[in-house]
Amino acid sequence: MKAKSVINATGVFVDDILKMDNPIAKALVRPSQGVHLVIDKSFLAGNSAMLIPKTADGRVLFVVPWYDHLVVGTTDTPLNSHAEEPIALETEIKFILDTVAQYLERPPARKDVLSVFAGLRPLAAPKEGSASTKELSRDHKLIVSASGLVTITGGKWTTYRKMAAETVDLVQKNNGGDKQTSDTRNIALHGSRPPSVSHLSAYGTDEDLIMTLVGEQPELKNALVNGHGYTLAQVVWAVRSEMAVTVEDVLARRLRLLFLDASAAISAAPVVARVMQRELGWDDTQKEEQLESFYKIAYHYKIN
Ligand SMILES: Cc1cc2nc3c(=O)[nH]c(=O)nc-3n(C[C@H](O)[C@H](O)[C@H](O)COP(=O)(O)OP(=O)(O)OC[C@H]3O[C@@H](n4cnc5c(N)ncnc54)[C@H](O)[C@@H]3O)c2cc1C
Repeated sequence: MKAKSVINATGVFVDDILKMDNPIAKALVRPSQGVHLVIDKSFLAGNSAMLIPKTADGRVLFVVPWYDHLVVGTTDTPLNSHAEEPIALETEIKFILDTVAQYLERPPARKDVLSVFAGLRPLAAPKEGSASTKELSRDHKLIVSASGLVTITGGKWTTYRKMAAETVDLVQKNNGGDKQTSDTRNIALHGSRPPSVSHLSAYGTDEDLIMTLVGEQPELKNALVNGHGYTLAQVVWAVRSEMAVTVEDVLARRLRLLFLDASAAISAAPVVARVMQRELGWDDTQKEEQLESFYKIAYHYKIN
């Protein structure tokens, strides 16, 4: 593949890419694991989010209403190495449950956890080894390697547009392009329009296109799984318009059901696979392989 510029924006994996470019490149990132639990919304009185300002380990903890559930977190566990699929530690689950038990309507037990998931923060590696991730910088870093590879890492979700704008501007400059800088601050997000009470509101203007699909194929308005508002139309939309190619793509990153309720996602998987088989022309073996690999991942989102 040939390109004028290559941008390495791979989160906690930036060092793997840097090492492909230069095997002796210094590590930029020190991963820090964070875990979230999802529980029923009845554990919190009212609809406001709660911030616990000082936990036993001196950090903050959030309880946030999220898609008719509560998301509770998080932890900050420094790691020296990272796997592709991070897994919540028992100590992290216990810490979150013990802490929120003091503040909710009733203490949540392990059986009340509908989903547990872990993520890895790409924090900037300290110059000297440091035990605490609280001391690690949350700022982003933008560097250019001798080969011209541009790497952007660190930072926050909340600063993603600033990070992207700085990266695009730097690449333009390196390529000797015109002086025009990124105009992202003036560009609305795809589909943006004010939220409504519709269960498809998060799709913005794309909601109208999903409803057109349902108009063409009325069976697509059938529910995906009991107890949640998802429909078959959302699976078709994810494949046709959101680049979903695996059962996990649909149930985790497009519909979020795996993050909200792992058991419901496992129940929905065969239906999702059937719809995707039709859309993508999978044979039966491909469909079974998809389901098997989804179940392997989904298992880690449940706790016993
Ligand atoms: C538990 C937790 C809580 C957080 N809370 C907050 C918060 O409250 N507020 C906030 O602002 N930020 C928060 N963050 C931080 C925020 O999530 C990260 O800073 C942000 O996601 C980093 O964005 P990124 O694009 O650099 O990396 P990522 O979001 O990790 O994206 C990197 C992408 O690159 C892909 N990728 C990796 N390797 C390759 C490859 N070889 N080829 C192609 N693609 C590849 C990955 O699949 C991924 O999609 C939190 C993070 C965690 C883990």
